[in-house]
Amino acid sequence: MKAVFGSNYPNKVVEIKDVEKPKNLKEDEVLVKTLFCSLCHSDLSMAIGEWGEKSKTSVGHESIGEVVEIGKNVKDLQVGDYVVGPAGIRGACEECKYCLRGEEVFCSEGIFIDKRGYGTMQEYTIEKANFSIKVPKNIDLASACIITCAGLTVYKGFKLANTIKNDIVAIYGIGGLGNIAIEYAKNVFGLKVIAIGSNEDSLKIAKEKGADLIINWKKQNVESEINKFTNNQGVDLAMVTSSTIEQFSLALKSLAPLGKLCSIGLPNKDLNINILDLTFGQKTIYGSLIGTRQDLKEALQALYDNKVHPDFEIKSIDKAEKYFELMNENKLFKRIVFDFSK
Ligand SMILES: [Zn+2]
Ligand SMILES: [Zn+2]
Repeated sequence: MKAVFGSNYPNKVVEIKDVEKPKNLKEDEVLVKTLFCSLCHSDLSMAIGEWGEKSKTSVGHESIGEVVEIGKNVKDLQVGDYVVGPAGIRGACEECKYCLRGEEVFCSEGIFIDKRGYGTMQEYTIEKANFSIKVPKNIDLASACIITCAGLTVYKGFKLANTIKNDIVAIYGIGGLGNIAIEYAKNVFGLKVIAIGSNEDSLKIAKEKGADLIINWKKQNVESEINKFTNNQGVDLAMVTSSTIEQFSLALKSLAPLGKLCSIGLPNKDLNINILDLTFGQKTIYGSLIGTRQDLKEALQALYDNKVHPDFEIKSIDKAEKYFELMNENKLFKRIVFDFSK
């Protein structure tokens, strides 16, 4: 079967290999035939070793598939069901303090791609049944892939913010994550949205997605634009999906008292924090790293309810090498979803 692996970077980013189909299904597992898998920047990072060592396993963590075989103790799934899982996590101990409080993402026994030996950008995977969430078949299957990572991460970011209706959020970084964040903010959490980016075309899309105000941070004065919009109050939530440290600084400065900064982007520099301002304003800085199975069920509900509409293009899995190259060259401006049936 086909599987996408990191290659001999920098000569080549990834290659499609022909590997053996996973076998020896355990009693609590299901064999899943991949239908679609979307391409995420994390796949590229793993393939080229941006986070340390280059991954030795196949990549991919945003997929939807069809159950084709079930282990003998599996009760809640049947052959023919369509399933998704929360980003890269495909198992946890269910006993540690993180698991018990429903935050399995931080379980030290958590099974991520490397630990289980393969990602989902391959034709078949074995999954734990209790980490496979059944989804309706009449939804947009490619969109569901994007919800399992980008959608889930921003959804969790908003959930942790405990905003109330009509609070104001500034979303810094208007790419794939930023756009989906606008829809969650407006259509699920009832927030007013300021979209902050630097690309005019992206800002236009942000407006179409429902942003109440758009700011080009490279051309406009962010502080004064936000002050005008918020009557000099600042924003209740600043969500940073970009990896530019300047945007984190702007985000921190834009917070109202009780304001929260949600970090989703991954800059490689540290943020300067004015502790006095943080304390006097009772402000919070927190991160959102993917989300749990429960968060994913909630994030998917927004898709079923037609409240979020990820943008993407579908390409054949046979074109994976080309699209990883484009992403590596910063020339990929659309989310790509690979179709395994073509
Ligand atoms: Zn992802
Ligand atoms: Zn655990």
